[in-house]
Parts: sequence; structure tokens; C-alpha cells
Amino acid sequence: MANLYTVLSDRFLVNPSRIALKTPDNTWTYQQLHNLVGQMANWLDTLALAPGARVAVQVEKTPQALALYLATVRAGFVYLPLNTAYRESEIAYFLDNAKPAVFVCDTNHFVWAQPLSMQSGVAHTATLDASGQGSLMTAIDTCESDYSDANSRDDDLAAILYTSGTTGRSKGAMLTHSNLISNAQTLNDYWGWQSDDVLLHMLPIFHIHGLFVACHGALYAGAQMVWLPKLDVNAALKYLPSCTIMMGVPTYYVRLLAETAFDRELTQKMRLFVSGSAPLLIDTFQAFEQRMGQAILERYGMSETGMLTSNPYQTESEQRIGSTVGKPLPGVDVRVVDDNQNTCVADQVGHIQVKGPNVFVGYWEMPEKTREEFTADGWFKTGDLGRWGGKTAQGQSIPANYLSIVGRSKDLIISGGFNVYPKEIETIIDDMTGVLESAVIGLPHADFGEAVVAVVVAQPDVAIDTEQLQQQLKRTLANYKVPKEIHLVQALPRNAMGKVQKNLLREQFSR
Ligand code: AMP
Repeated sequence: MANLYTVLSDRFLVNPSRIALKTPDNTWTYQQLHNLVGQMANWLDTLALAPGARVAVQVEKTPQALALYLATVRAGFVYLPLNTAYRESEIAYFLDNAKPAVFVCDTNHFVWAQPLSMQSGVAHTATLDASGQGSLMTAIDTCESDYSDANSRDDDLAAILYTSGTTGRSKGAMLTHSNLISNAQTLNDYWGWQSDDVLLHMLPIFHIHGLFVACHGALYAGAQMVWLPKLDVNAALKYLPSCTIMMGVPTYYVRLLAETAFDRELTQKMRLFVSGSAPLLIDTFQAFEQRMGQAILERYGMSETGMLTSNPYQTESEQRIGSTVGKPLPGVDVRVVDDNQNTCVADQVGHIQVKGPNVFVGYWEMPEKTREEFTADGWFKTGDLGRWGGKTAQGQSIPANYLSIVGRSKDLIISGGFNVYPKEIETIIDDMTGVLESAVIGLPHADFGEAVVAVVVAQPDVAIDTEQLQQQLKRTLANYKVPKEIHLVQALPRNAMGKVQKNLLREQFSR
């Protein structure tokens, strides 16, 4: 294989005049994007960085930000995207931990980012703002656009993605050129990408979903991206008629379904809606299918591994099944094992472990942690609990080669010595009249070790009687699984990728 950028550009430069990006006020052809990437790569070379130097970036989503990512990879350096929500003290951790040579920050953050860079020994700090301007753009102005791609080896690092780290400090997952190339190629084939596809891109690009899954898909196909800075329902409704693919976290679909204008006619050209990064509620899956006449394709993956499983793209002989994440992608091995590493039978919940060319090489400067997270025979422990087959909450049989995610193993509740899987209880509560959604957590309990606690969001204008809810659950569930407390909240706390932040709920409700 080769440099990731070489692989991508060999494909998209087949038609350089094709539109790569369409923003609300501009369009960029692939040639223009390629030229900008070349200028930025030349600028990086003027800095005389050491091989493998990290380029940390915390900027808003613009075409220039995408070019900066591509330029870093093209020049053989390591891209380190940072969530735009991170504050000064959080950024201090990443700069200290990753020791980047370059930090590109938002112009508005320069006042604190510059001193922070100095403190952390970052040699070069530049700015880029939400309109694509900043000292970075001034610096590259005189740089040539012609550039020879770095001759990267398969196992050279292309990016470090820090995990969202809801427990302990965030860890930097090191991804190689070949990790990213293999996942891009697999998904391109599996999801049937074509050069005439138009992707509605509203995801952030500091995360694997928006940066790799979505961008690599379009770039590898030489397809167009409608490039919106963030989820914007009105803009989505405006652009959807010309789009063929959309990728989103579950919240995006909830928000779109709340609009009556979001219907089959508006989305006539759409051939694929993908959801991931957090569980898609069965209600959303069903409401979508009913309204749109096609099912959302739910897939599963993580920063450390890229995409692992997907519901089928071709639906002539197979079905997309709500509440499952589908089958292992070609070339990816997935197994579910019990605490003693024995293979689980169908419907038995166990630990999800994975292997494949897409799996990362380890955590940045954490050899011990890396060793812990891999089995002796080389499988990565995802930390997710899952099961093959089984039945949906509606009683539909799930084929034995379909995986369902039951939750994170650290969210597993052990109450009175019994294992309680939050997802099982959440699924039942979510199905109850008047409930919009729920999160089940374990809180310290003097007798049971941990007590099961449910946090519930009611549907708009519905009053829920928590005692009645508890009584109903008693009739359905073994006693040890019945929440000892049920709390009503207006909304569940979620991060930018739509994941429920159970750590915050545990903090809020533990006394
Ligand atoms: P991240 O590294 O931020 O992408 O987070 C990866 C984690 O998100 C996985 O380990 C899962 O716990 C969760 N996740 C990703 N996709 C799904 C999905 N379709 N359903 C449920 N959880 C998911």
C-alpha cells in the first residue's frame, strides 16, 4: 500500500474538475482542493518537522480544515484532531500528552492557545477561523501547490484519535495509513459508493465518523460532499433533494423526522442513510422506515478500529434489522466471548473482540494499556458487550450472524451478584407508553453493591408516574433488574456524537 492521500487522490483526480465540496456559499473542485492540500503540505515541509511529528488541530469545520487534514497525511505527518468543544485545560492535556510540533487553533482561541503551546513546547502555532481565514492561510499563500506525496509505509501513523474518555483520561488511538486505507476500501465496496454520489456531510470532522467514514467514502469515490459546518435541519431540507447519501448520529434522524417536510418526495435521490456512533432507538428506526420507505443502515465501529459491522447495503436477500448493527464487514473478524474467553452461543451476552487490518496499533505512549486491551492471540477488546442473533424487543428473530450491542462493559451493573445489562431494561422502558427514551445506570448501594437506577425522558406533554412505571417493570422483569429508583429528566446528557454520558448521570444521581 502507500500514503493514504496517494490512494485517495489517485481516485478523485481521475476527474479533477468534479465538485468535491459544496458549501452554502462556494464550490470546490477536486483540483482546487488538491492544490490547496499541496500548498499546505509544502508549508508543513518548510517547518522542517521530524518524521512522525504530530499536527494538532482544533478548528471549525471548513474546506480549509479538511485540506489541512489531507495535507498532514500527504506530507507524512500525524494528524491529531481535537473536539471544538474542548476548553483550555482540556487542550493543555492533549498538547502535553501528544507533544505535537504544530498546533492550529481557532483564531478566537489564540489568546490562550499561544501561551499553552509555548508551555507545552509546541514549536509552531497557527490560526484558522470558521470562515477559513487565519495565519495558516497567510503562511501558505506563497507556497507552491505542486507536491510529491511522502513515501509512507503501511505501518506509519496517519492519525491519532483521542477517545472520548468518559472514565479516566482520554487515550490516543494510533491509526496507520493502512488501517485507514483498508477501512475506506472496504466501506466503498460495501456501501456501493459511486463518483456521482452526493454526500450530505453535517458531522463534525474531529471524530472518526465525520472525518474518516464520511470523508474517505466520498474522496475514495471522487464523489461530491455538501459541506455544512454542523447539523442544520433547514439546510438539510434544502440540500437533501440533490443528495444521494447521508451519514448521521441518531439525533440527526430524530431531528429530521420532527419535520413534516422530510419525506420520500424530498429525498427521492437518496439511496443510503447511515447511522452510527450511538445506538439508534428502535422507534426512530421504525418511524423512519414507515415515513421514508427505506430503512436506515446502522453500523458499528470505534475510533480504535474504524468500522466493524454493518447492516446489509443490498436488501434484496437480507434485511436491515433495527436494534442490531448487522454483520462483520468483509475482512473484519468479530467474536463474542464470555469472561473466560469462551465463545458465546447465539443470544448469549459477552465481550466483543475484533481483529483485522483496520484495527489500530495501540494507544499513544501507553504500552501497558495497549497490552491490556489486546488478548494474547491478538484480538482487540472493544469494551462493548454484545450478542449474536436472539430476538428483537418486538419478538422478531435475529439471524445468528447479526450482532447487537448491549452496552459498554464498564456500564454493566452488578447488583446483588447478578449481571444486569442496562440495554435490556432500557429497551423495555423505551417501549412503555409515554416514554421517549431512558438510560439505566448502576449506583453504589450498601446491600447490593450496585443498585439499578433508571433515568427516563417522557414524550412531549406526557406526565409519567414513576411508581406506576416501576410496578409495570416488576411484572416484566426479575426483581434484581427492576430499577430501585426512577428519575424523570427533560433530556439525557449527550456528547457531540450523540452518546449518552452515563458518567454525568451517575454523578448527578449518586448521593
Ligand atoms: P467512538 O470511538 O467515539 O466512535 O465510540 C465508539 C463506541 O461507540 C463503540 O465502542 C460503541 O460503544 C459505540 N457505538 C458506535 N456505534 C454504535 C452503534 N451503532 N450502536 C451502539 N453503540 C455504538
